[in-house]
Amino acid sequence: MAENNSLEGAVSIVTGAGGQIGGGIASELGAAGSDVVIADVDALDTDYNQQSSREVGGVERAQEVAGHIEDHGQRAHIVDCDVTKPDRVQAMIEETIDEFGRLDLLCNNAGVITVAPVEEMDEAEWDSVMDVNVKGMFLVSRAAIPHLRESGGSIINTASIAGSIGAAGLGHYCASKHAVIGLTKTLALELAEDDVTVNAICPGIVDTPMWEDVLTPTLDESYEETIERVIPLGRDQTPEDMGRLAVFYATNPNITGEALKIDGGITQSII
Ligand code: NAD
Repeated sequence: MAENNSLEGAVSIVTGAGGQIGGGIASELGAAGSDVVIADVDALDTDYNQQSSREVGGVERAQEVAGHIEDHGQRAHIVDCDVTKPDRVQAMIEETIDEFGRLDLLCNNAGVITVAPVEEMDEAEWDSVMDVNVKGMFLVSRAAIPHLRESGGSIINTASIAGSIGAAGLGHYCASKHAVIGLTKTLALELAEDDVTVNAICPGIVDTPMWEDVLTPTLDESYEETIERVIPLGRDQTPEDMGRLAVFYATNPNITGEALKIDGGITQSII
């Protein structure tokens, strides 16, 4: 993979790129010179998605992200891919190779969250979080590995500070993010012989639907109050912070198996 902070000529896939952090990662990769496949569930404005019962939330953001990448003179390609579906995952990888001829960088970023204490959590809720956050990462990595071995590329997984601490009400999410870090370290060892690096990004708090729609409503305080209370640096983190770390990992060929927190110091303190 390229050095000097440049990804000129590289081809990247970012899953969950129709979301906030994934969009930030995809945009920064584009700014560094990579062509980018923007992959998300229901990312395309197709008849099927218009008729489906799911909200077609990713479409506008995916198009906005594609615009940022194209503004930097790179190619963007939007793909509809549910990472929990092996056939869709395989089709996404084949579409990438058909379209661009190679794959250098895979950013496994798609993720979901819900809140429930373990005692009250039903199996379906547990499975849905583990399926997207962990199994999806396994499926996409497995399908991408032959191409990454060829290019000597990188995998960059979005974990979380929840990958190294616990959080009441987030048993499934914390378990999934600890698993992401374990998978990252293992893949780093399995792929080292072909010069493929594998690292994780651990975001702290980023203002996305995960906070607005899921986490903040369970707390007795506003999002701003949470930021002030828990983050020593006194500000939240941004999708672009995560994108800059992705570029850093992708352009530093001697870093592998790492899981770096970008959390403004949240995890450094017990008070
Ligand atoms: P987001 O909801 O904006 O983005 C998540 C994206 O994943 C969405 O676009 C969603 O459509 C997509 N997605 C969900 N299920 C999918 C599936 N089956 N297949 C493909 N795509 C799917 O939230 P975000 O905060 O940007 O989350 C991105 C990643 O960052 C997640 O892995 C999340 O766990 C992690 N994270 C977020 C925070 C935070 O503070 N927001 C903190 C730590 C880690």
